[in-house]
Amino acid sequence: MMKDRAYKGIDYFRFIAAILVIAIHTFPLLSVNTEADLILTRVIGRVAVPFFFMTTGFFIFASYDEGSFSYKSFLLKIVKLYGVSILLYLPLNFYAGHFSGKYAGAFILKNIFFNGTFYHLWYFPAIIIGVGVFLLLLKYCKMHTAIIIALLLYLIGVFGDSYYGIANEIPFLRNFYDILFFFFDYTRNGLFFSPIYLFLGALFSKIPQRHSFKTSMVGLLLSLSILMVEGLLIHHFSAPKHDSMYIALLPSMYFLFQMLLLWKGSSHKSLRTIAMLVYIIHPWCIVLIRGFARLTKTEAFFIDNSILHFTLVTLLSVFTSMIFNFIWNKERKNLDQKGRAWLEIDLSNLKHNFLQLKDVLPKGCQVMAVVKANAYGHGDIQIAYELQTMGVNAFAVASLEEGIRLRKNGIKGCILILGYIYPEEINRVIKYDLTQTVIDYHYATVLNQYGKKIKVHIKIDTGMNRLGENFHHIDEITKIFQLPNLVIEGMYTHLCVADSQIRKDVAFTIQQVENFYKVVDYLKGLGYSSLKLHIQSSYGVLNYPEISCNYARLGIALYGLLSNEMDETKAKAKLRPVLSIKARISIIKTLKASETIGYGRQFVANTPMKIATVTLGYADGIPRNLIRGHVLLRGVKVPIIGRICMDQLTIDVTNIPNVEQGDIVTMIGQEGKEKITAGEVAGQAGTITNELVSRLGSRLEKVYLKKL
Ligand SMILES: *Cc1c(COP(=O)(O)O)cnc(C)c1O
Repeated sequence: MMKDRAYKGIDYFRFIAAILVIAIHTFPLLSVNTEADLILTRVIGRVAVPFFFMTTGFFIFASYDEGSFSYKSFLLKIVKLYGVSILLYLPLNFYAGHFSGKYAGAFILKNIFFNGTFYHLWYFPAIIIGVGVFLLLLKYCKMHTAIIIALLLYLIGVFGDSYYGIANEIPFLRNFYDILFFFFDYTRNGLFFSPIYLFLGALFSKIPQRHSFKTSMVGLLLSLSILMVEGLLIHHFSAPKHDSMYIALLPSMYFLFQMLLLWKGSSHKSLRTIAMLVYIIHPWCIVLIRGFARLTKTEAFFIDNSILHFTLVTLLSVFTSMIFNFIWNKERKNLDQKGRAWLEIDLSNLKHNFLQLKDVLPKGCQVMAVVKANAYGHGDIQIAYELQTMGVNAFAVASLEEGIRLRKNGIKGCILILGYIYPEEINRVIKYDLTQTVIDYHYATVLNQYGKKIKVHIKIDTGMNRLGENFHHIDEITKIFQLPNLVIEGMYTHLCVADSQIRKDVAFTIQQVENFYKVVDYLKGLGYSSLKLHIQSSYGVLNYPEISCNYARLGIALYGLLSNEMDETKAKAKLRPVLSIKARISIIKTLKASETIGYGRQFVANTPMKIATVTLGYADGIPRNLIRGHVLLRGVKVPIIGRICMDQLTIDVTNIPNVEQGDIVTMIGQEGKEKITAGEVAGQAGTITNELVSRLGSRLEKVYLKKL
């Protein structure tokens, strides 16, 4: 689940934090003003590493809570990174003579587990041990006890770090820290430093918005000012052992993190990777630039000018990281295609469809994008976000949870819940600023009872006989407007035969529209005239483009599909399917005549044949009754044979030369000139495209493509 969450602020600040770390190691303002440099690198810059800890706590806790966190795989990932980083810096270790001397063995162990083998690499053991402590505390203590213990550990750390000058004056404390420093050189490590920040991050995991923007801004400014005073006092009046850990750093981080969480939007995966790479490689860049300056005797220029030095190190680190990230991504892209079975979601086609449909809509009618059922299987967050960037600011979902998911992931504007919600859940509708459909007068009175203002659209039943207050019940409808807690922003109805152009169906649809407008006009007479009105869904727009409302609720057509492929519509929008389904060939076999395939021995080979098994089944959403289906292989349409299983199906590849294990097949989509549409598959399975795509299995990975 977590990978779907998008926190723009967090991703951007990862990059800023990485640059701050470079600043800490290069003293950019030193040649300008030592005091300013002290503040930047010894005080303010200290937010960087706690920020990384908090981010880890934030994400880990969510999956820990869902029960899907595995310390083992987390460990494996970090150990791998740490291992590579250790190797990367070995040459510098040897060059600096780190491993010589008589205590080399103990020295190396101490460094691997606490100090880091090179001066910035302490972060890795700190996160490994920190998360271990974090998980132990979570397991054996209540949340608040755990936080108190983490705080105490931090306090011990603080007195061995920034406040060491004070601790050193007190004999009892001095002895205590003497013992500690036998095991490690600093207290800014996984035992004392990281746990509390992991907890602070975890605090936000369940409630990403704990404070308003204003409160967190004021909190941040206040605590940063205190942090600055604290840092300056410590550096001027005592002898800190190190200066990573301050007391005011705790509230500073808390409010900073809150501010970043309020900055929502789509996530930025490559910034994440680049930030990590910058962190890992920047010391090498420092060494290289220094080496270069020494060789060319340009130290005065490249090094003594601290701003230039910092800028060069930053540019070199970022540039190198971008190159690594590029290579990495390329590999990853291929990896995506190497999956078992996946969906390709073409966002350029989504945009194309959106523009086509906007052309059909009357002026002034806005798109309300229907993204229920995970955007008809296309991935609700990604689709909604993409549409939002195209200017859509109204969305429709079926359930409360779907609405919350969008809101939590940075979707703004109106999010209308089309279906029933259990009234007891009204608090969350309000909390996430969602809009609820009033499905009849009685439901309206129930929603009103809670005494809290709730945004609603009223649904009028004009003949479908599903949700909505019947259009005849004009008194009940009027009474809804007198309920004080309902903030009525819109009114709508739903057409039930808009897909048909048969005369009697057209007549029925026109009657539905008239019924709706009777209600609208009556309410106008009473002075309720500023409602947002909407009637059409996809077929409503395509067959009745002249109906002019405030919104059209577009679902299936946005995804480039009609419910039935053969349907003719009045308006001709050139739609392009957004989704393709791909899978792999897992094995190839030859059969003798009279051998059979699969369950029930349903398929009998009449002649010798070559067959292949494909990594797709009904658990992936391929209908089991798709007996006359096909897939594309090497641009050729080949038949599905035998029964479709839960995870696999079989195809006849007798006529395809050189088929290999791992070959890609297309279940829905295009290969060269051949294509298989969702409409074709739905038709063969006796259903409509809406059902087919919305039931695609969640284990199909999604790959989002965007042509330029
Ligand atoms: C699902 C739904 C839509 C979208 O319908 P499409 O045919 O996919 O465009 C519109 N309105 C309501 C009330 C719906 O439930």
